[in-house]
Amino acid sequence: MFVFNSLLERLKKFDVKNEDILHVKQIKKELKKIFGKEIKIDTDETITLDRYQFSISGVYFEENLKILIIISGSKQSKGMVIIEDAEEFRYYIAQVIQHEFVHHQQHLKRNELVLDNYTLCPEGTEHQSYLAEYDEIDAYSYDIAMDFDKHGWGKSKMLDMYRKSFKPHHPVMKRLLKKAYKNMEKLYD
Ligand SMILES: [Zn+2]
Repeated sequence: MFVFNSLLERLKKFDVKNEDILHVKQIKKELKKIFGKEIKIDTDETITLDRYQFSISGVYFEENLKILIIISGSKQSKGMVIIEDAEEFRYYIAQVIQHEFVHHQQHLKRNELVLDNYTLCPEGTEHQSYLAEYDEIDAYSYDIAMDFDKHGWGKSKMLDMYRKSFKPHHPVMKRLLKKAYKNMEKLYD
């Protein structure tokens, strides 16, 4: 299920402009205004980033059905982030939330049907077997559909991450692209 477009719509309230220099704390505050208690927003000061770099990642907690979004800036710049492209910044946030939302949906389904989360690459590295999990293929196929929609067919940072780990004809790639293609059709449902 796609929530991406409605997320982008809501994120328009986050009045960020190109070249704005914001503190992660400010970003957190603005996002809290939009999502309230729906989504928890936090920062991780232990990750190392270059000056003005930032990272956005997400976690889904099955125990309390909560999505946590972690936005971090670099320590060097005291958590200040330069927003180079405001639209892109909002896009990343929406994409991370969409990804965790898919995990949320998977969890709800699993409770009903007791499906298992398999990996298509159990013999690979830890990173490969993570990417090859059915749940991750499913969630990343949404990320990739969004990227294709925005940047054109085949152009996706998330897909590049998969390409680095698997050869083009690996079953993981086949499953991933098939799902991404299907999801593109669902994007505007
Ligand atoms: Zn995931």
